[in-house]
Amino acid sequence: MVATPAWPPQSLPRLFVDEELAKGRNIVVDGNYLAAVLRLGPGDRVKLFDDRTGEWLAEIVEAGRKRVVLAVGERLREREQGPDLWLLFAPIKRGRIDWLVEKATELGVARLLPVTTRRTVVDRLNLERLRAHAVEAAEQCERTTLPELGEPRKLEAVLREWPAERLLYFADEGGGEPFRPVPGPAAILIGPEGGFTEEERGALRALPQARPVSLGPRILRADTAALAAVSLWMAAAGDW
Ligand code: SAH
Repeated sequence: MVATPAWPPQSLPRLFVDEELAKGRNIVVDGNYLAAVLRLGPGDRVKLFDDRTGEWLAEIVEAGRKRVVLAVGERLREREQGPDLWLLFAPIKRGRIDWLVEKATELGVARLLPVTTRRTVVDRLNLERLRAHAVEAAEQCERTTLPELGEPRKLEAVLREWPAERLLYFADEGGGEPFRPVPGPAAILIGPEGGFTEEERGALRALPQARPVSLGPRILRADTAALAAVSLWMAAAGDW
């Protein structure tokens, strides 16, 4: 006898849509992925999430190469409550920064904030491309949230307006306490390939909410440092 298949099947395609989902609503998406690539048609099912209301089951009612119309059915999951962690990073080279955004999304970072520092060498950041990487990672990894991706801001401005209740762990390749996060709202700051200047270190150390931390005796590339620090924080927060 055939076992009852799990419902809904795990292998359903998942898509992020940037509009609020609700039962009975019809959603129109570009047909390229669902119709042209996956060759899905009317009656086929898809999971949708909107970063607002959670994850929903939807059925294709109309499929063309240009557009696919989906009817939203039952809600499968509420929007997950992610850990309260921000990641601030100096823009680094394309490829590496795409990787960083993808992995930080998988790990569940709530906000991704690009910060320009004195030694930041990348001056133009394609936020749309970064957002597409975050969306793709969230789609593949069952996420019901997306990290909020901020506009690049200068380090001084970020420090000037730093929220009183949030600790800022800055990964200091020049040394610091071993990274042992304590509970509460937090952010991690990673420097660019060239590291922080002495002046920046001074400004950071002067901020009462800042904690210089070491990520061990070996210098890591910025992208590795970011993901190592996020993993350590999540482990300490009991979220690993
Ligand atoms: N070129 C610099 C290294 C920069 S590494 C130098 O040779 O000193 C890029 C960023 O990753 C640093 O600014 C820091 O935020 C983080 N980082 C890398 N390794 C680290 C470590 N062992 N401890 C703390 N932070 C580290």
